[in-house]
Amino acid sequence: MIPPSPLRLRIDLDALAANWRQLRALAGVDTGAAVKANGYGLGAKAVTDRLYVEGCRTVYVSNWQEAAALAGRAPDLRVKVLHGIDAADLPAALSIDADPVLGSPEQVALWRAHGQGRRCDIMVDTGMNRLGFDWRGFCTEMFAGMDVDTVHSHLACADTPEHPLNGLQRDRFEEVVVALGIRGALANTAGIFLGLDYAFGHVRPGIGLYGGSAGLHQVVFPTARVIQCRDVPAGDAAGYGATWTAPRDSRLAVLNLGYADGYLRGFSNTGAALVGGKRAPVVGRVSMDMIIIDITDTHAVAPGDWVDIPYNLAEAAAQSGISEYELLTGLGARYERVYT
Ligand SMILES: *Cc1c(COP(=O)(O)O)cnc(C)c1O
Repeated sequence: MIPPSPLRLRIDLDALAANWRQLRALAGVDTGAAVKANGYGLGAKAVTDRLYVEGCRTVYVSNWQEAAALAGRAPDLRVKVLHGIDAADLPAALSIDADPVLGSPEQVALWRAHGQGRRCDIMVDTGMNRLGFDWRGFCTEMFAGMDVDTVHSHLACADTPEHPLNGLQRDRFEEVVVALGIRGALANTAGIFLGLDYAFGHVRPGIGLYGGSAGLHQVVFPTARVIQCRDVPAGDAAGYGATWTAPRDSRLAVLNLGYADGYLRGFSNTGAALVGGKRAPVVGRVSMDMIIIDITDTHAVAPGDWVDIPYNLAEAAAQSGISEYELLTGLGARYERVYT
C-alpha cells in the first residue's frame, strides 16, 4: 500500500474555466489553450477535459509524446504540436490524431512526403527568431495543395506593451495572413491583453488560464504537512547557512515542502505559509525537501497538520524572483493533485 502524499496541490478547475472564458471574452475570437508541459504542471488531461466542456476545441502541446496523451479524448478536439515534426516522430505521429505546426521547409517536405495529405498548421517567425518560417522570405506557394488550417506567429515582447516589436510583429503577421487567406493566430495570454488588433481569428492563451498575469483567478493551491515544531531561543539560527537568526524567543514549524517540489531557493526568508489565516514567514533557507516557518504569532500547529502555502502567482513571482512559468511548471510530481 502506498502511503498518502504529505503535500497536495488543490487545482480549482472552475477558476481555470473562468479564466478561459474571461480571456475568450477579451479576445472576442475562437480561443484555444496551451496545455504543453503537462498543462503547465497542473495535469494536461484534467485541464483539457474541463476546458473542452467550456467549448475549447483546440489545445497546444510541444511534442508528439504530449500529443499522444491527449489525442482522441473528444471527437472534435484538435491537438496541435507546436514543435512540428521530424523524421524520428513520423512513424508514431501518423497514428496520432494531432496536427503538426510546421515551421521550416524541411518539415513541410517531410509532411508532404509522408503526411498522407493530413491537415497541418504553419508557424511564421515575425521577429522572435525562435520557431517558424522567416517572414521575410515567406511565400504562399510553398504550401500549395496542402491542407493548412491555421497560420501562427508568436510575440516576443507581449508582456511589455510599449515595446515597438509588438506592432512590427503584428503588421508583418497581418501581411502573411492576408496573403494566405486562412485563419491567423498570434496572441498568447499577454498578446490578448494588447487588444483586439492582436486577436486575428484565434488565440492561444496559456499562463493566464492557470492564474498567471495579474487579474485572473488563482487556480493552484499548494498545501504541505507539518513534520515537527520546535521552540527556539532568541539568538539561535535556523536552516542551511544560518541565514536567519531568531530576533526573539520563537516557535518554528518544519513543513514537508522544498525545492524538489518547486518551492525554490528564491522563497528563502521571503515566502510564507498561512496558518489560521495569518502569515507565517519562511525563515532561513529553503531545503531540498523542507521549509521552516515562524508560527510564533499564529495559531499553534502540530505534526500532521496541513498548512496552506499562498501561491498567488504574481506575488509569488515577486517574492521569489522566479517567473510565473517556472513556478507552475516546476511544481513537480510529489504533490497529490486534487481537482475541485
Ligand atoms: C506557450 C505558448 C503559448 C502560450 O503562452 P502564454 O504566455 O503561456 O500565454 C502560445 N503560443 C505559443 C507558440 C507558445 O509556445
